[in-house]
Parts: sequence; structure tokens; C-alpha cells
Amino acid sequence: MSMEKRRLNRIAAALCALACLLLCGCTQKPADKSFLAMDTVMTVTAYGKGAQAAVESCRSEVLRLEGLFSATDGQSEVFAANSAGSAQLSAETEELLRLSLELCALTDGALDITLRPIMRAWGFTDGNYRVPDAFELEQLLENTGCERVSLENGSVFLPAGTELDLGATAKGFTADRLAGLLRDAGVESALLDLGHNIQLVGTKPDGSDWRIAVQDPFGAGYAGTLSVSDCAVVTSGGYERYFTDGDGRTYCHIMDPETGAPADSGLASVTIIGDSGLLCDGLSTAVFVMGAPRALELWRSRTDFEMVLIAQDGEIILTAGAAEIFTAADENARITVAER
Ligand code: AMP
Ligand code: MG
Repeated sequence: MSMEKRRLNRIAAALCALACLLLCGCTQKPADKSFLAMDTVMTVTAYGKGAQAAVESCRSEVLRLEGLFSATDGQSEVFAANSAGSAQLSAETEELLRLSLELCALTDGALDITLRPIMRAWGFTDGNYRVPDAFELEQLLENTGCERVSLENGSVFLPAGTELDLGATAKGFTADRLAGLLRDAGVESALLDLGHNIQLVGTKPDGSDWRIAVQDPFGAGYAGTLSVSDCAVVTSGGYERYFTDGDGRTYCHIMDPETGAPADSGLASVTIIGDSGLLCDGLSTAVFVMGAPRALELWRSRTDFEMVLIAQDGEIILTAGAAEIFTAADENARITVAER
């Protein structure tokens, strides 16, 4: 082979390698891991250097936090508080409680982290579903309300009969921690799927937005997609957990703290988009209780979240910021955009 031909071959090989590199750059192989925690299947997917180790440490961190926040694990801090009326807290549980109490106040009590006795009465804690009567609920409601929870010097105190249920905020708090852990490990692109809590680190590895599906609360498909990066997307819906009685009436797992009965605000699902996983998680539950008019009032008073609300009658209500990033699956969907 002549010198010239060898040189041309080398250039061709180099160009070929470059083309491969460019193509692979867009379809980088991710590190991913799925596991069962906090009553749901979680999947962590991360790209780039250090991703594999970071994904492994996400799993251990979730299990560690579950061991603190779980209401059923006999070793947890929440279990200790619920059974003894007080408990010394780790920094993580104290912060989750403090932030959750702030959200209770922000939502005027629509978010209430003391509803465990109510959840138990309806059978949501053990799957033995039943419909409690008005008298039973009235009695139980005497012991609920966030004002009954005291945090002092790293300990929590609960009056007799009051029990914590952090199911509405624990996953959002956990997702924020995991995103921080991934960023600290140098991961710039990751998707955390903690059940209905999605948390995104950066963009997709090719620099484009992630497309996150918003589930159709009335069927198996999806109602639309959101183009987002570096944020949390959290959905709460009556369709996620519910039971049906002999007459075909359904009862969902999100309770109205005023009545002790499943929320009935006219919404079928609520998706909140924002920087904080905890805020989005707490608000998705609270807004499901509050209903659209109160939720829009709250949205107009703040700038840190956007919403996709799907009403029981099928209407999709988007806040102005959500309208910019939402694409409906059905082009004939009834959509209303709320302005500030
Ligand atoms: P999420 O799936 O985030 O909407 O949270 C729902 C879970 O939070 C339920 O399974 C209960 O454990 C708990 N929960 C139900 N209703 C409320 C409420 N109004 N405020 C706070 N937590 C609630
Ligand atoms: Mg929630």
C-alpha cells in the first residue's frame, strides 16, 4: 500500500470513528436500576461517568430514608412517634416534618400529615377496605390536624390518638435528596421515577428536553406529554389507589381532612411541575383535595409551580406555564388555559 493510500485509509477510519462517537453520543448507554421501596416500583436512570455507582447509592439512600419515614416499619422514627407519642428525630425526618407542616399551612390544611387513623378506618393501611360511618369519622377527626404536631429540639410530640402519615410528601422529599446525590456525584443527566413522582436532573444526554407522559386518569393511555428538564413532575389521582363497594361506588386514597372521606373536588388527577420535588408532591395531594378554583388562586399567589389538572368531566385545565410545555395526546381534548 502506498504512503498516500495508507494516509487516506487512516483519515477514513478516523472519520468513521468520529461518526460513531457522534451517533453514540445521542444514545449513550444509561446506568439504571429498578427496585421496590416506599410501596412502589422505583427506577433510577443516569447517564455519563460515575452514573453506575451513583445509581447504586440512590437505592441505598431510598432504603435508608424509608427506614426512617415508614409508618409500618417497627424500627422507624415515624413508627416510634406514632406508638409512643414522641420520638427523637434524625435531621432528615425533622426536615421532612418541618417542610410538610409548612405545606399544611400553605394549603390551609388540605394537606394534613395526621390522617393515618382515617386511612386505617377506610382500610387503606392493610387492604381490608370498608366504609366507616359518619360517627366513627367524627370521632377520629378530633385527633387530626397539623396543629397537633409539635417539633421541638429535634423531637416530635403528638397528643394521644394523633398519628403521622407522610405518604403525601416522603417520596418528593426523597426525590430531591436523590437528585442532589446524583449531582454531587457529577451526574448531569438522570431520570428518577419514584412511582408517580418524576424527578429530572438536567436534560437528556443529547441536550434535548425529557418528554414525560401525564397518565389518562380514565384509561390505560396518557392524556398528554410535558417537555421538561431539571425539575420535578408529580401526579396524584384518585385512580392510583381505590376500592369499590357493593353498589359500584369508588373510594380513593386521598382524603379530605375536613370530612375524613375521600376527596371529591371534581378533579380526576393533578400534575404539578416545579423545582422542588417536595413542594410538587405535597401540592399534588393537596390540590386534589382543594379542587381547581382554590388551586388556581394558590397558583396565582406564587411562581414556583405549574399545574395540569384533569377534571372528572374530562376537561384539561393548564396553568399558563404548563400550557407552554404540554402537548395533548388527543387533538380534540377540551383544554382551558388559566392566566395569571
Ligand atoms: P400522594 O400519592 O402523594 O397523593 O399521597 C397520597 C397518600 O398520602 C395517601 O396514600 C395517604 O397515605 C396520604 N394522604 C391521603 N390524604 C391526604 C391528605 N389530604 N393530606 C396528606 N396526606 C394524605
Ligand atoms: Mg403527594
